[in-house]
Amino acid sequence: MATDQQRSGGCLCNAVRFEIAVPEAVFSICHCGMCRKWSAGPLMAVQCPGAPIFTNQEGLAWYQGTDWAQRGFCARCGSSLFWRLAETPDAMTIVSAESFDSADDLKLGRHIYVDAQPERYDFGDDRPRVTEAELLAELGIAPGGK
Ligand SMILES: [Zn+2]
Ligand SMILES: [Zn+2]
Repeated sequence: MATDQQRSGGCLCNAVRFEIAVPEAVFSICHCGMCRKWSAGPLMAVQCPGAPIFTNQEGLAWYQGTDWAQRGFCARCGSSLFWRLAETPDAMTIVSAESFDSADDLKLGRHIYVDAQPERYDFGDDRPRVTEAELLAELGIAPGGK
């Protein structure tokens, strides 16, 4: 059974349905070029410890865009869903906030990869803004990936 922290979500066509524990109802906004290309805008996502439990993964596919990270999406409807580290895929999953069935209580934590943000948009909030180098240092990854 789902615990209080457990949330359900899925893609647009429901060929991917999952549950995952979300201990902190906080999302970040990633402005990196890959996230923007992948999700058609800045990626709003929640960092979750552990891996999703799938109730349907018919449509699930993973794209390895760098040596160190993989992006999970629905191969049927194209929804952008997950980001995880390639070497430790079950340790942590970053989940698109928009994929959750219920996300109204999520609070904006911070912006990441702000040095990659284009000038054509600006969220105008006062949450913390973290650069690529600062974030990779936090994740224990050498700047520029590896
Ligand atoms: Zn789908
Ligand atoms: Zn990104």
